[in-house]
Amino acid sequence: MKILVTGGLGFIGSHTVVELQNEGFDVVIIDDLSNSSLEVLEGITSISGIKPYFEELDLKIKSDVKSFFSKHSDVVGVIHFAASKAVGESVKEPLMYYENNISTLVYVLQEMTKLNRQNFIFSSSCTVYGQADELPITENAQVKPAQSPYGNTKQIGEEIIQDTCKVNEKLNSIALRYFNPIGAHPSTEIGELPIGVPQNLVPFITQTAMGMRERLSVFGGDYATPDGTCVRDYIHVVDLAKAHVVALQRLLENKNTSNYEVFNLGTGKGSSVLEAIHSFEKVSKKKLKYKIVDRREGDITAAYAETSKANNVLGWKTELSLDDAMSSAWKWEQKIRNK
Ligand code: NAD
Repeated sequence: MKILVTGGLGFIGSHTVVELQNEGFDVVIIDDLSNSSLEVLEGITSISGIKPYFEELDLKIKSDVKSFFSKHSDVVGVIHFAASKAVGESVKEPLMYYENNISTLVYVLQEMTKLNRQNFIFSSSCTVYGQADELPITENAQVKPAQSPYGNTKQIGEEIIQDTCKVNEKLNSIALRYFNPIGAHPSTEIGELPIGVPQNLVPFITQTAMGMRERLSVFGGDYATPDGTCVRDYIHVVDLAKAHVVALQRLLENKNTSNYEVFNLGTGKGSSVLEAIHSFEKVSKKKLKYKIVDRREGDITAAYAETSKANNVLGWKTELSLDDAMSSAWKWEQKIRNK
C-alpha cells in the first residue's frame, strides 16, 4: 500500500517513514528541503534497509502537486507533516506561515480528494488548546484563540479539513494533536536537525551541553507549578511516529466512527523544565549550565495530555520515558557534532 508522507525528511516525518516501512508500507516522500536535508534519506535507508521514493517538491506550487498526484494515483493514504513550525518566526513573518501552512494543505487536499482512497492524517498541535482550563487536557477542551500565526495555521488547518469532510464523505481524516515531541531514533541515524538557534528546550539543552551555547535560560521560575517552572508533556518521537501508523491503519481498515477524528498524542505526564534538565543531567552524567530568567511572552504555565482516547480507541500508548528521550537526543547531538 502506497503512502505519501509530505515533509517526510523532517523530524517527525522521518521517524514516521521508518515506522511505516517497518509495517510493510510502500512510502513515497515529498519534501522541499526547506528544513531538512538529503542526508535524512540516507539515515532512513540505513535503518530500514529500504530507500523510499523521494521527490524534492515545494507543495506551494500547485501545478507540481497536481502532477505528483497524477503520477501517484495509487496512493491510499497521506500523512501531511509539511509545514513551517517556528512560533517566533511566524510572528515576524505571518504571511509566509499562512502561505506555507495553509496553501500546501489546500493543494494536497484538492488533489487527494480526486483519488479512489482518501485517507488523511494531519499534524496538529496542543497549541490549539492554549492554556487549558483543566489538566490533563482532553480532546473536548475548548480551542482557545491562537497565540501566534503558527498556532492559528493549525486551527485553520483543522477547520479546513472538517469543512471538507462535511461535503466529502469519501474523505477520512484524523487530526493528531502532538504535545512536545523530543528525542531521536535509537540508531542515531535520524533526529531533530537544528537549524539556527533552537526554539525548543531539548535541542537547546543538548547544544548547551556540547558547549555550543554558553548556558540555558529557563524562562520563569515563578509559575504556579510544583517547582515554579513551566510544565509540558514530552513525548518520544519514536512513540509519536508509531501513533501515525496506528491512526493510518484505523482509516485503512474503516474502523473510524466519523470521517473527522481528533486525538491527543502525549504521555499524559507533565514534566517541568527543571525535571527535564535533571533527566538530561542524569542520563548524560553532565552538569548543565542554566539560569532562571524572566518569563517569556506567550508561554503557558502547564499543558499535558489526557491520553485515554488515544489509548482506548487507537490502542496506542507511549512506551518510552523522558530519560529514554533525553538519552537518545544526547547521543544524536554528539553524533552530528562529531562528524
Ligand atoms: P520539520 O520542520 O522537521 O519537518 C517539516 C518538513 O516539511 C521539513 O522537512 C520541511 O523541509 C518540509 N516542508 C516545509 N514546507 C514545505 C513545502 N512547502 N513543501 C514541501 N516540504 C515542505 O518539523 P517537525 O517537527 O517534523 O513537524 C512536522 C509537523 O508537525 C509540522 O506540521 C509541525 O507544525 C507539526 N508539529 C510539530 C511539533 C514539534 O514540536 N516538532 C509539535 C506540534 C506539531
